[in-house]
Amino acid sequence: MKKEITGVMVYYYEVCKRKLWYFYNEIQMEQGNENVEIGKAIDEETYKRDKKHINIDNIINIDFIRSKGILHEVKKSNKIEEASILQVKYYLYFLKKREVDNIKGKIDYPLLKQSIDVELTDQDIILIEGILEDIKKIVALKNPPPLEKKKICKSCAYYDLCFI
Ligand code: SF4
Repeated sequence: MKKEITGVMVYYYEVCKRKLWYFYNEIQMEQGNENVEIGKAIDEETYKRDKKHINIDNIINIDFIRSKGILHEVKKSNKIEEASILQVKYYLYFLKKREVDNIKGKIDYPLLKQSIDVELTDQDIILIEGILEDIKKIVALKNPPPLEKKKICKSCAYYDLCFI
């Protein structure tokens, strides 16, 4: 099974390598998880007038582009901000590879009424290319990477799979 690397996979790479493995290998337990439901509700209720969910090659799914040249990603909290930043940088990288490089990124937190800007640097490109190689190795493993207890485990959709 060989799939393209999506923005969500890059996000999970930063959040938890085990979660990435589960997700890639189609072990999906997101439905009914309270955090996912909240995320969907925010998604449906916010920025109604903006263009939403721009899907490119089924690889990246940009929440919306509100103002010209700005790619927006909506998140409910900034607890895992590093992963969100990496996800948006991957979107910018992906677009740059397709010669769309006049775009900037923004992460919006509607519940916090905050947003942060994200840009892609030359160093980020090197970093992302290394991460993409690493992701390919992780998802090809026969078994999920070893369990490492994290703060986010309790709110993770895979909690039962890891801990029960
Ligand atoms: S429960 Fe924890 S270890 Fe298991 S997939 Fe989720 S974040 Fe990773």
